[in-house]
Amino acid sequence: MNPIDADEGTPVSIKIRERLLAARKRFNANDNIAEFIQPGELEKLLDEVEDKMQGVLNSLVIDTERDHNTGNTARRVAKMYLNEVFRGRYVNAPTITEFPNAEHLNELMIVGPITVRSACSHHLCPVIGQIWIGVLPNEHTNVIGLSKYARLAEWVMGRPQIQEEAVVQLADLIQQKTQPDGLAIVMEATHFCMGWRGVKDVESKMINSVMRGSFLKDSNLRREFLSLLPRKS
Ligand SMILES: [Zn+2]
Repeated sequence: MNPIDADEGTPVSIKIRERLLAARKRFNANDNIAEFIQPGELEKLLDEVEDKMQGVLNSLVIDTERDHNTGNTARRVAKMYLNEVFRGRYVNAPTITEFPNAEHLNELMIVGPITVRSACSHHLCPVIGQIWIGVLPNEHTNVIGLSKYARLAEWVMGRPQIQEEAVVQLADLIQQKTQPDGLAIVMEATHFCMGWRGVKDVESKMINSVMRGSFLKDSNLRREFLSLLPRKS
């Protein structure tokens, strides 16, 4: 038996996990693992997740054979996880073209609100909200198109997340791509795990922020940014 046949029966998730462990890479819910997935493996992962999801439905004692509404649910949920809501774990970062700051812009720029969709790592319940990004460029800052901030946010939020960690991940990414003097992010989101279950509080929202560079040092800049956010309350 050649080595290819030998690992034929190994679930693809195990193979990916072994590569991660060998490389000593973290694979928490909110980590991207795209570089450890080989071409064609995402399709196999989809089959594997479908199979396991069918097991969950079976254990929930749902008759997926006779209930036409749930007949294809395992496949749909697997697709939803891998190709949509948790896609940010399995695909590479969106390619962003950076331009030099030819106009030497150095005024506060605010992008938002950007709608963000994520899920909490604790219950895999939706987390839906908005973010605002404040950037204070300098002459060395790379300029990226406005829509690119939304693409980067979508990639980071498309993983099971904890809101506090999500904004930090996004800030690190934007910092690394554009090198501004200051960066501020505010996120306001509804956590469905609080409305659908638990305390069943549908109205409550969580707001948090990260401030970097000049936003940390300069309270006037921070105030200016916060005062420009269109807030309902
Ligand atoms: Zn939760």
